[in-house]
Amino acid sequence: MWTIEKHVYDKLPHPKVVVVGGGFAGLELIQHLAGKPYKVLLLDKQNHHCFQPLLYQVATASLGADSIGHPFRRTVGPMPNVAFRMAEVLRVLPDQKRVETNVGDFGYDILVLALGSTTNFFGNRQMAEVAMQLKSISQALDIRSDFLQEFERALVLQEEAELKRCLNFVIVGAGPTGVELAGALAEIRRTVLRNEYREMHSELMRIVLIDSNDRVLKNFSEKSSSNAGKYLKELGVELLLNKRVVSGDEDHITLDDGSILDTNTVIWAAGVKGVTIPGLEAGLNERASRFMVDRTNAIHGFKDIHVLGDMALMEEPAYPKGHPQVATVAIQQGRHLAKNLIRRAEGKEPLPFSYRDKGSMAVIGRRKAVVDIGQWNFGGTVAWLLWMLVHVAQLVGFRNRAVVLFNWGWKYLSWRNTIRLIVRPYVRKGTAVARPFVAVE
Ligand SMILES: Cc1cc2nc3c(=O)[nH]c(=O)nc-3n(C[C@H](O)[C@H](O)[C@H](O)COP(=O)(O)OP(=O)(O)OC[C@H]3O[C@@H](n4cnc5c(N)ncnc54)[C@H](O)[C@@H]3O)c2cc1C
Repeated sequence: MWTIEKHVYDKLPHPKVVVVGGGFAGLELIQHLAGKPYKVLLLDKQNHHCFQPLLYQVATASLGADSIGHPFRRTVGPMPNVAFRMAEVLRVLPDQKRVETNVGDFGYDILVLALGSTTNFFGNRQMAEVAMQLKSISQALDIRSDFLQEFERALVLQEEAELKRCLNFVIVGAGPTGVELAGALAEIRRTVLRNEYREMHSELMRIVLIDSNDRVLKNFSEKSSSNAGKYLKELGVELLLNKRVVSGDEDHITLDDGSILDTNTVIWAAGVKGVTIPGLEAGLNERASRFMVDRTNAIHGFKDIHVLGDMALMEEPAYPKGHPQVATVAIQQGRHLAKNLIRRAEGKEPLPFSYRDKGSMAVIGRRKAVVDIGQWNFGGTVAWLLWMLVHVAQLVGFRNRAVVLFNWGWKYLSWRNTIRLIVRPYVRKGTAVARPFVAVE
């Protein structure tokens, strides 16, 4: 049988580092451990890295799935001391220094967990059942198919209430993901719906953005927050602030003031919580749903296990409640741990991690974005160009960068979201088939 044991990789005499999760943190770590005196095994339940900040563009038909995903095998192919296994980790057995996965167990000398986060419904079970999420490429493709299916369905519906419900898109959570998604849907209404669905009045489509805070982008400066709110209103997004979703089912949601919104599509972008994994309960902060780590990302109570990125809770003087769950933290922690592991191999002491905040940005639409960098807060075209530059530069792989740039250029010139094939129809939870088309004239 051909296994990594028969490969040159296994003959390496180095300690074995098992890295679980090839997201921002895990990928950065293995890239910096390539060619170093460690035998590295990357485990991920997917076969690709996903660039989550651009998921909303896949969901809104601006980019193809393959331009924001990158196969792990292409990354590790040229790295002789790194191997990859597609495996979902189910449990850690720290006493035996092994991880249990859906394809068997793997032993380690050093374990690094970087499994990211999942959607946080804050205990709202009904919404967890009916709302759509945006954490993976397949969920982004579901959202894309869903809104395209709703457009097609709206054209053959005759009952007004049903038609309105079908074209009412509700997004819960006005953080960067919710704001970017709402802005992109509003642009689709202004371009695609108006020009290509001529038999339907485009204003029938509503985009409602709900948040329990009194402003959108609450973690941004007040200026950027107010600019983003202004841009959204200009695009015709309805903002429902200081409101909380309390319940809902397949065709409506209820807010805390008792009002009801009829809708077929609710997208939940109201928060995330760290992935937890059985076996390490002693290091878990249950309330935060993150593992407590020291300044070297070593998990409290477990020797030789490190936790990085969204699932890690590290206190440092400037961040007494831990770092924000964003890609820059994950990348910097991945890079820092690689440096410390290299120091360890050289017999040196590890250095403590300090986060360098490089700022925040969100895009709302064509030439509409907001940027906060230190004391600088600005919006408009310059912010929009900077947003594009930063995101293209961070994408993994030259091909992906080229394809994304081409797609954005094409979209800018043509005013069209071009990737609008319903290849894999979205089937709602609890339904056996996609919603039937009725009342065809
Ligand atoms: C829609 C969206 C937009 C965002 N926009 C921004 C932005 O603009 N800027 C920003 O800084 N941050 C943004 N973020 C946050 C950012 O993506 C995360 O903070 C970052 O991805 C965290 O990196 P990570 O390495 O901890 O986890 P991830 O990047 O999430 O990677 C986790 C990896 O672990 C794998 N995995 C999970 N469970 C298992 C398991 N049991 N077994 C094996 N593998 C597993 C997953 O497949 C994945 O590859 C956004 C997030 C989302 C969802």
